[in-house]
Amino acid sequence: MKETLSLGRIAGIRVGLNWSVLVIVALVAVVLADGRLPTVHPGHSAWVYWALALLTAVVFLASLLAHELAHAVVARRNGVEVDGITLWMLGGAARLHTEAPTPGAELRIAAVGPLTSAVAGGLFAGLAVWLDALHVSGLLVESVAWLAAINIVLAVFNALPAAPLDGGRLLRAFLWYRTGDRLRATRGASAAGRALGWFMVVTGFAAVLFAGNLSGMWAALIGWFLIVTATAEARQAELRGVLKGVPVSRVMTPDPVTVPETMTAGRFLGQAPFDRYRHSAFPVVTPDGGVAGLVTLGIVNQVPAEARSSTTMGDVMRPLPEVETTAPGDMVVDLVPRLQESRERRALVLDGGRLVGIVTLADISRVVTWLTAATRPRS
Ligand SMILES: [Zn+2]
Repeated sequence: MKETLSLGRIAGIRVGLNWSVLVIVALVAVVLADGRLPTVHPGHSAWVYWALALLTAVVFLASLLAHELAHAVVARRNGVEVDGITLWMLGGAARLHTEAPTPGAELRIAAVGPLTSAVAGGLFAGLAVWLDALHVSGLLVESVAWLAAINIVLAVFNALPAAPLDGGRLLRAFLWYRTGDRLRATRGASAAGRALGWFMVVTGFAAVLFAGNLSGMWAALIGWFLIVTATAEARQAELRGVLKGVPVSRVMTPDPVTVPETMTAGRFLGQAPFDRYRHSAFPVVTPDGGVAGLVTLGIVNQVPAEARSSTTMGDVMRPLPEVETTAPGDMVVDLVPRLQESRERRALVLDGGRLVGIVTLADISRVVTWLTAATRPRS
């Protein structure tokens, strides 16, 4: 989930919003301002309902953030690097850079999320009771009570034993602890995730078709997300199993064809003195042989025809700091997620600053095919 708006750092962890989080704000605001609040406490003006509903939606986002922050902080304490947190349409996602090292760590990282939501739910419930006793406006009490209920629902839903929910991670930690086999544990949690996902899709659509309940669409959407994510997680785990211990040097294309920084776009496209049809991306080198960046055919092709004789590779290339780089001794397993996120889907292989190769996702999937063919022959 890409970050659209950065909120800076909280407890040292990068926090951002994806634009789709507006869907949550809108849904919560409509449900409260157009339904719940005027039904329970009629007689106020519309703007009071809407202002309170929007405020409640923002507090709700903050409680989602607290849930994800709890995951992130505990992950970091357990030696797992955290890339950041993004809030989006279906809640929050803490992006962990590496996997939990032990079943115990996995359990702690997963459990603290629903626990935080449950505690938040309890605190809001207590606050609602207290405000009610103080005879504060019933509207406000209603909003706080709604926050209590939604946080408890979130705690319970997230604790369901199905990947990629927190409960799925707990299930995986348990299976991993029992069998000592992380891959098998992941398969089990993923199967449970797909089962729950299909259940939600079917019941969601049934609610829409037979009961005319439109919120079934939301359940179906979340179910679909569970199916897709659980499947991807299992595939990623299989990949990890196959690529375990394989260094980048075994997968990369060594000594790639490079282009000089000073070469113009016109020359690159027209009469490049290299075997250009075999490749679509080229490292750009400086006159002294250092690596400056990466160009792709796609990038050069965007240079307008009239500017091609004056635009050089140095002008249009992605400069080195923006390009994924790796070392020949790095593990391919760790590179895959970075490549999948990267724009060019390839990395330059540098050995002490010197260019020794280039590696693409296509190279890696070819190697995966080879390795699976070798270890699992067709019978
Ligand atoms: Zn969670």
